[in-house]
Amino acid sequence: MLEGKVAIVTGGTKGIGFSIVKKFLDNKAKVVLFGSRKETVDKAVEELKKINENYDVMSFYPNLTNEEELKECFLNINNIYGHIDILVNNAGISSHTKIEDFSVSEYDKISDLNIKSVFMCSKLIVPYLKESKGVILNTSSMVSIHGQQSGVMYPASKFAVNGITKSLARELAHEGIRVNAVAPGVIETDMVKALPKEMIEPLIKTIPLGRIGQPEDVANAFLFLASDMASYITGVILSVDGAARN
Ligand code: NAD
Repeated sequence: MLEGKVAIVTGGTKGIGFSIVKKFLDNKAKVVLFGSRKETVDKAVEELKKINENYDVMSFYPNLTNEEELKECFLNINNIYGHIDILVNNAGISSHTKIEDFSVSEYDKISDLNIKSVFMCSKLIVPYLKESKGVILNTSSMVSIHGQQSGVMYPASKFAVNGITKSLARELAHEGIRVNAVAPGVIETDMVKALPKEMIEPLIKTIPLGRIGQPEDVANAFLFLASDMASYITGVILSVDGAARN
């Protein structure tokens, strides 16, 4: 479904991002995964090459809020492949800190990775996507619709992701660039494994489809939205949550 396309996936070293990378590779895209450290991106590429040595995959670890680093990285990727077609802004961190304990430094950390990096990567990729008539995809969350009982800046950051998605979809439509988001529910990754059992188990029981989501459930939605099958879809926040409404 993505033959000939070049995709960048931030937060591609594990969890949902890793599954998106693998799904795109299985559909014949060339993929550049981003992570936060050399060791983790190297490990992810090694793992993928073990699965299929013919995967066309490489990695970088730019600071996602550093304009100069990102510019250089996108230029390098464009020089290597000649075009960039898909950006997936997936890297994100969560929080369950209560409001009284929520520090300004945690606020900055969440807003930098979950909002500023989405803004920065999107802004800097647009010149390339104008050429390729490409696609920007963002990882939102079900909490972007209903909020969350603690960790206020996490849901707030995903409300912002939805705002960026809907606004850029309108701003960039005339350039032929589509912008969509996927809003996962409870997905079995390290992010969810890190949460207290008392919080997660009751939540899973309320999911109408009767199970926790898998990273691949989410990756399938990204594949669809990245592909030409979604050529008339832009500005959408696609829920992939088994009808969970937290
Ligand atoms: P994860 O912790 O398994 O993976 C997070 C990814 O983000 C990793 O690849 C990591 O390298 C990257 N990352 C973390 N900090 C970074 C930094 N400072 N700079 C660059 N990259 C960094 O998490 P996940 O569950 O796969 O989450 C991926 C996305 O999905 C996030 O945006 C998250 O908010 C969203 N999400 C997850 C769930 C869930 O239930 N797991 C639900 C809704 C939304």
